Amino acid sequence: MSSFNFDVITLFPKAFELINNLGVITRALDKNLIDVNLHDLREYGEGSYRQVDDKPYGGGAGMVLKPEPIYKAHESVKKKPKSKTLLMTPQGKVLKQKDFERWSTLDQIIIICGQYEGFDERVRYLADEEISTGDYVLSGGELPAMSIINGLTRLLPGTLGDPGSLIDESHNSSFLEYPQFTRPQVFRDMKVPDVLLNGNHKEIDLWRKKQMFQRTFKRRKDLINSQLHDLQIDEVYSENWHWDI
Ligand code: SAH
Repeated sequence: MSSFNFDVITLFPKAFELINNLGVITRALDKNLIDVNLHDLREYGEGSYRQVDDKPYGGGAGMVLKPEPIYKAHESVKKKPKSKTLLMTPQGKVLKQKDFERWSTLDQIIIICGQYEGFDERVRYLADEEISTGDYVLSGGELPAMSIINGLTRLLPGTLGDPGSLIDESHNSSFLEYPQFTRPQVFRDMKVPDVLLNGNHKEIDLWRKKQMFQRTFKRRKDLINSQLHDLQIDEVYSENWHWDI
């Protein structure tokens, strides 16, 4: 099986040493399930100073990444048949678990990381998708890029020891995960719920479903609303449709 390629265009390739030390990703790298190729933007800079940024036209604070080095770096990446280019920007579509699922059928993701005040507007034409990791502004696209590599890699077959752990977790079904407990049964007067100790799997299942629903309702009503929005209205009213709790 050929590996999934991540090609990252960045001014700070060293930052990516971190991903080698994140458990699951280390395993995927060791098993050659993924390849992470770092493309140092500086190498595509202009002149003897390898300049990659410049002042914005029209004035304003800070520096902007020039288009030419990014285009050159992007052209130098060997493209695989099912490749997509993602541009990291707080102006992009906010990253969702569904995006990881969608991208996991590709064989390559090229990620462009911005820095400073961002990039020349013409860089956008290189991107298939513009992605934001959330409504806040970071100093560079490296952490967002690592989030994408991490989140996508754990979905690739062979990465997780137990693929079952992907099934129940938060965001997989638009519901947050139920509360989890492990030993000891009583910790500083905090007790594990009895239902989890009685070995009745039907009851446990029901309890967990209720918890998922209540927890999502309390914390993230927006997730339930968007789920309802996605459903066909006649499906909601059909006899076969129920929350099962
Ligand atoms: N002035 C720009 C922000 C620049 S932040 C603007 O207002 O759009 C510098 C770089 O960090 C960005 O180009 C982007 O690559 C990255 N970045 C910052 N916050 C991000 C976020 N929430 N999601 C994805 N990338 C982000």
